[in-house]
Amino acid sequence: MSGVTGDNPLMGGEPRVLYDIGQMRGFRPGGPVGFVPTLGYLHEGHLSLLRRAREECRVVVLSIFLNPLQFGPEEDLDLYPRDPERDLRLAREAGVDAVFVPDASEMYPEGFSTEVRVRGLEDLLEGRSRPGHFAGVATVLARLLNIVGPDRMYMGQKDAQQAVLVRRMMADLGFPARLVICPTVREEDGLAMSSRNAYLDEEERAAAAAIPRALFAARDAARRAERETGGFDAGALRALVERELRGEPLVELEYVSADEAGSLGPVGPETREVLLSCAARVGKTRLIDNVVVERLRPGAGGERKDGP
Ligand code: AMP
Repeated sequence: MSGVTGDNPLMGGEPRVLYDIGQMRGFRPGGPVGFVPTLGYLHEGHLSLLRRAREECRVVVLSIFLNPLQFGPEEDLDLYPRDPERDLRLAREAGVDAVFVPDASEMYPEGFSTEVRVRGLEDLLEGRSRPGHFAGVATVLARLLNIVGPDRMYMGQKDAQQAVLVRRMMADLGFPARLVICPTVREEDGLAMSSRNAYLDEEERAAAAAIPRALFAARDAARRAERETGGFDAGALRALVERELRGEPLVELEYVSADEAGSLGPVGPETREVLLSCAARVGKTRLIDNVVVERLRPGAGGERKDGP
């Protein structure tokens, strides 16, 4: 079909836009391939991944696929913001070589029956609130990794559980690509960039900044406790975030959790990095965010119980 557009990918200029799997598989200009999978409606968070890929790889592939498998029946698949033309312009500006934009029937043709599940990780945290979400994520990424065949895949720390689960899935299924996790890009007031921020009205947008504020307050408290007592209590940090957010009338907290960052298992005395993560609704919009708090001296105390 006429889905291939643009110049030589290694000469700069227009990215190639590839609609079907055959075209994508055939795109092999040579050199290490960096891959950034997205749902589209690109923002600075996505662009930071593309820039990192551009720095580290000879070829950069972006996928834009609003994956129906990772949305629950009551979720926002139909409302999810889209702007393919703007996405393409931003992709060009970021120096992307190829944009893979399959439609759902290309990714999941009739008879498609396989599901990739990462037991143990898929039911925690976000998985509790969004049953089936991570099976959708793991399934689409396994398929995309097979189609694109990258050397490196770039994802965001914003979706911390996704990063842990995808790393596990890639190791278990033997995908040779290296997974590179990039820092969360934030608005000036701290709100993590997200395509879903577009749903927020002015008042909600202002209230949403309470989420990073609470997480940063906990991180600061942890640093203080480390300095003053040599350690911190992860349960107390969790409680601090909860307390801060319960005081915000427009923020309806779903969960706050403190977990071992690499495994999402419980925080123990030897835990080096604690992932403090939360989900909240602001109006109808569901937002997630997290910070990682490092223990300078694991085992040095502070950890007493998983509670305030
Ligand atoms: P999405 O389109 O929401 O699936 O996001 C695509 C990729 O961009 C995922 O790896 C996300 O973790 C990453 N991402 C989304 N928002 C941000 C952000 N604010 N900072 C860094 N990475 C992000």
